[in-house]
Amino acid sequence: MKFEAIAVENIPLIHSGDNLPSIIYENIEFQDRDIVIVASTVVAKAEGEIFRLEDITPGKVALEIATRSGKDARFIQSVLSRSREVLVEKPFMLVTTLAGHTCVNAGVDESNIEDGFLLYPPKNPDASAARLGEELEKLSGKKLSVIVTDTNGRAFKIGQTGAAIGIYKIKPVKHWIGEKDLFGKVLEITEEAIADELAGTANLLMGEGAGGTPVVVIRGLDYYYNENTSIREMYRSEEQDIIKKGLRCLQKKN
Ligand code: GDP
Ligand code: MN
Ligand code: MN
Repeated sequence: MKFEAIAVENIPLIHSGDNLPSIIYENIEFQDRDIVIVASTVVAKAEGEIFRLEDITPGKVALEIATRSGKDARFIQSVLSRSREVLVEKPFMLVTTLAGHTCVNAGVDESNIEDGFLLYPPKNPDASAARLGEELEKLSGKKLSVIVTDTNGRAFKIGQTGAAIGIYKIKPVKHWIGEKDLFGKVLEITEEAIADELAGTANLLMGEGAGGTPVVVIRGLDYYYNENTSIREMYRSEEQDIIKKGLRCLQKKN
């Protein structure tokens, strides 16, 4: 068994309004069921999600959090503007974004953008993935999947990895429940986070710095192609999310 991961070369610095699908299409020959993995940084740049820190006016809640955490109230405001819930204020902001993704700083980024600017994550990453996918399919005439990724930390281990934040035509979770193990025992709970595993794989070629490789194509994993899917399938329901419940309790105590 094997698959390929191919970094798409020659992607320029992306600016607001750039036609990202055609830039990608010009630099890779697609095959049917390629999985196109795109860093949210360049999706956000193309969508114009670029803001000047000095133009942001913090509201009441941002000022309150800033007093408690000692961070820049304007940055906190930018995080709040993309969050539906704050789970941790200090020593970092852990939030659930408007789209339902839980991560540090709502994915608001100060890296890989000019000084003094902030890059907000795409507002609706599923919609961004779909727009990219539909346009790339039109240009190439091939069936494609798309994953929009960001770099996220994990709760229990050191080190960040690529994580899926928006998807198009790919099965994000593989349910092993009901399948048998090597010894014929039926698996009862195992669900494999395919979209995050693919994001992590692509991130090996993207890196986090000046690599300039925000697009990676994964070829040879055709069986994850799946229409009508959403990143929402990956988020735990409120009822099941016991870590979030615990964090809310801690917030109340502090
Ligand atoms: P994030 O994980 O989505 O926040 O993106 P990163 O900032 O970690 O960048 C991922 C990859 O994309 C790295 O290789 C960066 O050098 C690259 N990158 C970021 N912005 C651009 C851009 O505008 N053009 C190109 N060609 N690469 C970029
Ligand atoms: Mn990021
Ligand atoms: Mn990254």
